[in-house]
Amino acid sequence: MTPKMKPLSLPRRLLLGPGPSEVPPEVLKAMSTPLLGHLDPAFLQLMDETMAGLREVFATQNQMTLPISGTGSAGMEAAVVNLLNPGDRIVVGVCGYFGERLAEMARRRRAEVTVVEAPWGRPVDPDDVARALSNGGARVVAIVHGETSTGVLQPLAEISSLAKRHGALFLVDAVCTLGGLPVPTDELGIDLAYSGSQKCLSAPPGLAPLTASWEVMDRVRARKEASASWYLDLRLLDGYWAGAQRVYHHTAPISMIYALREALRLALDEGLEARYRRHQEAYKSLLAGLSRLGLEPAVAAEHRLPTLTAVKVPDGVDEKALRRRLLEEDGIEIAGGLGPFAGKIVRIGLMGHSARTENVERLLVVLGRALGR
Ligand SMILES: *Cc1c(COP(=O)(O)O)cnc(C)c1O
Repeated sequence: MTPKMKPLSLPRRLLLGPGPSEVPPEVLKAMSTPLLGHLDPAFLQLMDETMAGLREVFATQNQMTLPISGTGSAGMEAAVVNLLNPGDRIVVGVCGYFGERLAEMARRRRAEVTVVEAPWGRPVDPDDVARALSNGGARVVAIVHGETSTGVLQPLAEISSLAKRHGALFLVDAVCTLGGLPVPTDELGIDLAYSGSQKCLSAPPGLAPLTASWEVMDRVRARKEASASWYLDLRLLDGYWAGAQRVYHHTAPISMIYALREALRLALDEGLEARYRRHQEAYKSLLAGLSRLGLEPAVAAEHRLPTLTAVKVPDGVDEKALRRRLLEEDGIEIAGGLGPFAGKIVRIGLMGHSARTENVERLLVVLGRALGR
């Protein structure tokens, strides 16, 4: 009898797109560790260690710091559903695809959403946020730290103080930055931040690290109505991850927690400062190499996100064909543009384990060859 399915056999790629990033062998190995029960004391210990590791990368003392079971978008949804009730006002800074996704989630929560827009390729202007806040009554101000769709880094300090001044909670999407750039949660007064395991932390996709301030958790605990989402209810998740009783909520994705815990161990072992420096060095060598090839970044120097570089596609170059060639002939993945940038840019991610100058060199060689430069 012929088997129904062949054993798994896949091409080897170098992942230099917007995520997932390369996963270090130690993390892959951790994932193949035999399972424990999710209420086994040894696993509970691992959950504690994972929370402690996440507090380090979020630079926070927040007790409520844990990975949501789900990808970065689940972290986004957890933020929206726990911070907002129908009718609450949220001001969302939008300068690309992910800011727009956050606004859409808030609309579905039936919040009153005020979008503060910036043109794609530029960060949101704090003066525009200030104007949106001036008529008062916003419960949340939300912003994307690293806008992966455009390669823009959003400064956070000014928008945080605006939020504080208007008595609003400050919500930050750190999916593309956590582990690659400092995300100083406590120092910046961020009330809730979430991320994704597959970007600068270099574990596979499937977990969304999240941290919430004591104030947020006080509000969540004081809530009279039950959360609209059972699965993403921070009160129930807190009971499971940190309560004295460790009350069963859902079954934690055991192997993914092994992976994230190992990824955090590697990050802390490397040292966060050294890790951020490594990301900067890879980014600088990419910029230098692009300039040697006569290629131009799409974002002005002062607004660039080092973990994701948007590059203008030269006239006459078919970017889809270019990316296909890189993938099929050279085994390297980069990404195309989204929305208004579709066909006009390619996106090169240097996140986590991918952010190494030797990877940059390999990419530049094949890019130069493919473009005939
Ligand atoms: C990738 C990404 C997300 C969504 O994460 P998923 O893991 O794809 O659900 C959200 N925000 C930003 C900035 C991202 O880069």
